[in-house]
Amino acid sequence: MAEIPAKGARQAAQTVSTALGRVEVLALFPLLALSASWFGFDNMALVTAVGLSALLAFAVLLGRSSGMTTPLPSTALSGRVGLVSMLDRVAGLPGRDTACFLIQIDNWAVVHERWGHDTCEEIASRVEERLQTALRNGDLLSRLGDSRFGIVLGPLPSARLGLRDTIAGRLAQAVADPIPLHGAAVRLSASIGHSALLRQGIDLADSTFKAAEAAVDDAAHHGPGAIRAYTTGMGQARILQSNLSAEVEGAIHDGDIGTWFQPQICARTGVLTGMEALARWQHPKHGLLGPKEFFPAVEASGHMPLLGQTMLHKALKAFKSWDDAQARIPTLSLNFSAAELRDLTLAQTLSAEAARYDLSPNRVIVEIGETVAAQTEDDAILATLQAMGDIGFRIDLEGFGLGNTSLHTLQRFGVNRVKIDRSFVLGVETEADKRQSVSAIIAMAQAMGIETLATGVETAQERAALHDLGCDFLQGFGVARPMDADTVADWARSHAASGKTIRLDDRRA
Ligand code: C2E
Repeated sequence: MAEIPAKGARQAAQTVSTALGRVEVLALFPLLALSASWFGFDNMALVTAVGLSALLAFAVLLGRSSGMTTPLPSTALSGRVGLVSMLDRVAGLPGRDTACFLIQIDNWAVVHERWGHDTCEEIASRVEERLQTALRNGDLLSRLGDSRFGIVLGPLPSARLGLRDTIAGRLAQAVADPIPLHGAAVRLSASIGHSALLRQGIDLADSTFKAAEAAVDDAAHHGPGAIRAYTTGMGQARILQSNLSAEVEGAIHDGDIGTWFQPQICARTGVLTGMEALARWQHPKHGLLGPKEFFPAVEASGHMPLLGQTMLHKALKAFKSWDDAQARIPTLSLNFSAAELRDLTLAQTLSAEAARYDLSPNRVIVEIGETVAAQTEDDAILATLQAMGDIGFRIDLEGFGLGNTSLHTLQRFGVNRVKIDRSFVLGVETEADKRQSVSAIIAMAQAMGIETLATGVETAQERAALHDLGCDFLQGFGVARPMDADTVADWARSHAASGKTIRLDDRRA
């Protein structure tokens, strides 16, 4: 109850302060004093001048002590320019602080592909409305492209970290609440980066905005749904990506970007059943980089198709060389992005490449991600996968159980094996809910005649639990880390000779 009068006083203070702070009202002060003098009331003129000035100072002080924001004249500018200009104006107010937030909707390309341009515009404006309601009067919100929004808070006494984190949490929730649209519920998440007004440097406003950009990039890298406050050095990741982009083409041609391979084994016998090809960049300065570290740079450089062709060619060539060395590696799994699968010539290209290396199609596994499987309405992807199935290639679906892939999709895409994500595998031997999830996935797959492969298997306990639950295949650091093509044949021979291949059967006996 005590809060109500305090809130009332704050509101009154804000009203008086706002009214007296308005330019039109300020312009009346000299007029009132002059009028009083004109009509011969010299004392009144003095009282009017001193009294009104005191009232103004009092109102402003009252406004500050109640913690409310100092209103700024509204700006007609929007986008990055408007946000930076707002930062600039707050930076010029003594004793006032602010913060910049950048909100990036995660996986917008997938959302776009699923819902199309017009619906996505509707989604974006709903998100904008939601963000606006999570803000206060005086905060500035602006859309920055298709799926990014920027916010600069109105002037505050302090934009401390705790406050910024609370606001970021509120913004994240505003995006995460399902959006009802055309009878469906659109579920989104956002990566959020924020920075308080930087106090050092030449152009404080611009630096603060760039700091928020570095923070949101970092959040997006660790997302979905991550929130990051700017810390010194964060901008390095952005600089690294733009440097890498410039180097991609040369690195592909020079052979620095290529394929590494990770073994897959039978869960029951431990026998090697195949290798998965994984992209790696052996960078002269930054060491060995994985897809998460360099795919954004490849995408930005527009060389994803070139990378795909290179990976395909190198992986099949290596596969053939293991056959020639009689290394007994039954299958090779290849990853394809949604963009690659949309290419209607891919099935024929893959078929021709396999024939060139004298490899039977049923030894080649086409691996697709859960986000690809979500695009059930994409006729081009469906056509490619059906053509691949007809030729005899096998299809693995990765990340099954994480998204909304339906049983119908598994059938439509002709999936032969589902890969159980590491998030289910971690703790499967001790956590009941993990066991239940894995058990449900395996039971469902078995009922549909689909095989299962658990990924990210690191420990002997995980391996044993997965075997007991009936999982067919295993892959993970507990079997072997990814290795280069030249190491594979030797690894396969020593694995076969090590006796590890029958360990689980022994344990069971
Ligand atoms: P994926 O197909 O699920 O590949 C398995 C990923 O899990 C690999 O990460 C591998 O290094 C990692 N991993 C394997 N065992 C363990 C483990 O025991 N613990 C942990 N923590 N991680 C493990 P990587 O190489 O970073 O690849 C990530 C993803 O990038 C792959 O997931 C695949 O979806 C994609 N990818 C990789 N290479 C290519 C490519 O050439 N083209 C395309 N389109 N995507 C690729």
